[in-house]
Amino acid sequence: MKQYKTSSEKETKSLAAKIAKNLKSTVISLTGQLGAGKTTFVQGFAKGLNIKDKIISPTFVLIRQHSIPHTNGHLYHIDLYRLEDTSQITHLGLEEIIKNPENITIVEWAEKAEKLLPKNTVKINIEKIGQDQRRITVLNFPF
Ligand code: ADP
Ligand code: MG
Repeated sequence: MKQYKTSSEKETKSLAAKIAKNLKSTVISLTGQLGAGKTTFVQGFAKGLNIKDKIISPTFVLIRQHSIPHTNGHLYHIDLYRLEDTSQITHLGLEEIIKNPENITIVEWAEKAEKLLPKNTVKINIEKIGQDQRRITVLNFPF
């Protein structure tokens, strides 16, 4: 387990970029209350993968796909905030996406579909401990 503290959105983004550059596994779950910084984390993470797209939360579409430059893979950004029942996501083709080792899947509100994620999922929890302070806990990171 690794723990970090950040004091600004910018710091969270640069931590996420650093994690993205060191990543060797392909599924990341993000948990934490509304406004904790999950989408902010994904923005920094995407930047670390050299993705230039604007990253907005896929709350209404559940999933967004971004091509990862210099690879054949994609970043799949999933947000399960509005998910009421896991049968709603069986059609997303998650298994196929995860099967391709060049893809990276990052899931906001992952606790809503924990059973559908692989055992080696890197688990990241973001906790709001002050107006701009966040405690970021990383489990399962294969350093
Ligand atoms: P979530 O996706 O978890 O609901 P967002 O990333 O959309 O959260 O929003 C987080 C909000 O908190 C943003 O407005 C961001 O600017 C603010 N914020 C303040 N401090 C931090 C920090 N240290 N890390 C991340 N976000 C922060
Ligand atoms: Mg969000």
